[in-house]
Amino acid sequence: MNQNEKTMEKIVSLCKNRGFIYAGSEIYGGLANSWDYGPLGVEMKNNVKKAWWKKFVQENKYNVGLDSAIIMNREVWVASGHVVNFNDPLIDCKSCKMRHRADKLVEAWCEENKVECNVEAMTNDQLSAYIQEKKIPCPGCGKSDFTPIRKFNMMFKTFQGVTEDSQNEVYLRPETAQGIFVNFKNVQRTTRKKVPFGIAQIGKSFRNEITPGNFLFRVREFEQMEIEFFCENDEKKWLEWLQNWKETCEERWIEKIGINKDKLRFREHDPKELAFYSKWTWDVEYLFPWGWWELQWIAYRTDYDLQQHMKFSGRDMQYTDPMTGARYVPHCVEPSWGLTRAVLTAMIDAYDEEEYINGNWEKETRTVAHFHKNIAPIKFAILPLVKKDEKQVEIAEKIFHDLSKDYFCEYDDNGAIGKRYRRQDEIWTPFCITVDQQSCEDWETVTIRDRDSMEQKRIKISEIANYMK
Ligand code: ATP
Repeated sequence: MNQNEKTMEKIVSLCKNRGFIYAGSEIYGGLANSWDYGPLGVEMKNNVKKAWWKKFVQENKYNVGLDSAIIMNREVWVASGHVVNFNDPLIDCKSCKMRHRADKLVEAWCEENKVECNVEAMTNDQLSAYIQEKKIPCPGCGKSDFTPIRKFNMMFKTFQGVTEDSQNEVYLRPETAQGIFVNFKNVQRTTRKKVPFGIAQIGKSFRNEITPGNFLFRVREFEQMEIEFFCENDEKKWLEWLQNWKETCEERWIEKIGINKDKLRFREHDPKELAFYSKWTWDVEYLFPWGWWELQWIAYRTDYDLQQHMKFSGRDMQYTDPMTGARYVPHCVEPSWGLTRAVLTAMIDAYDEEEYINGNWEKETRTVAHFHKNIAPIKFAILPLVKKDEKQVEIAEKIFHDLSKDYFCEYDDNGAIGKRYRRQDEIWTPFCITVDQQSCEDWETVTIRDRDSMEQKRIKISEIANYMK
């Protein structure tokens, strides 16, 4: 299926109807752009997390894990620069009052009109001038009459404790990274890790986005999987690590979750587009149905964050090299993945509608997602062919009992077998195990059906688990 033919409506509707993702607070009319993960969605999200943690924490000798608090001391965000700099350019249409993010308004117009323009490198004044010069219309009413651009800080504010005054003001974290930086010394001291080493964290982040949208792509509450990789203050070294992390992301991680590499590209940031703390950044972009957009990024953050926390907290963030005795503030390479975006990308990438010839030699279409078996929510569907056959049920229940100790399985005895296969295709189950008459005769074999090829094979029950290895 062509990427352009994949409509988000179909994917959103499948997610809702099969129990992947529901609209948040639905019975109260919903809350704009908030989503809840259903029974299959939560499995899939957990599988992405598990695969990431295994790859980057368990199997990586350099990295260790962390789970820091979401609400942190306000000074953390003063030091990191978020209180002053974490702004988006807000612009309102004077005519219909629709609110826009100015950079995204320009970006969408350039994309639609096939105009090359590096929007991320533009200042707010340049964005304003460009909107006026090109007479970019408001997507709501079509007029081009906007207010000046205002800076809008995206951090969610709340209060800790009983009094709602500025003393008690705190923020929901807009990134997981700062929880890592403030714990740099704790982790280094307690693990006795030597530079280079990394600290990894998965957790929720919150951003009061001006224009959330495209399903899970841009939401206000999302999850990130971030690594802050601390290395020597030496250009040759951090460049090597930057390159190393780029290759790791490209080769080893993307492969693990099965995203098609042809739809990915690495885009190096133009110097004007770099975040104020970064000297080198790559966006990893995916070809979504609405164009090339950021899926994750890899940035060289210099020693900016540790220096800032050293200045604001008064604590020494330096590291002493045990071999040379050199004392310095480590520099940092940050590969940052959006877990929420990775889940969405995997869904879009795998979703397909295929024509095939059924058992009666008729053309039929099936909806299927060619999901990598690592992240498919259900690994095996156990299907007794005849629900009323006691022997088939006994064998099927035993298989379910044994396999479900290691793998998420579904037991389904409802309806014709063809319909059951289709249902499993729609929820992306890689393998269907059918218990039939022959299983009752030999007490040893079943058929296994592969979701992608639809081929069926007779195998021994003892061989089923090998299919997930
Ligand atoms: P964008 O340009 O799309 O706003 P960003 O450059 O601000 O993203 P980063 O600060 O680099 O994002 O965050 C790292 C990752 O976190 C992103 O690559 C993305 O996968 C994810 N992410 C950021 N903002 C959101 C959001 N509002 N909803 C879902 N995921 C997000």
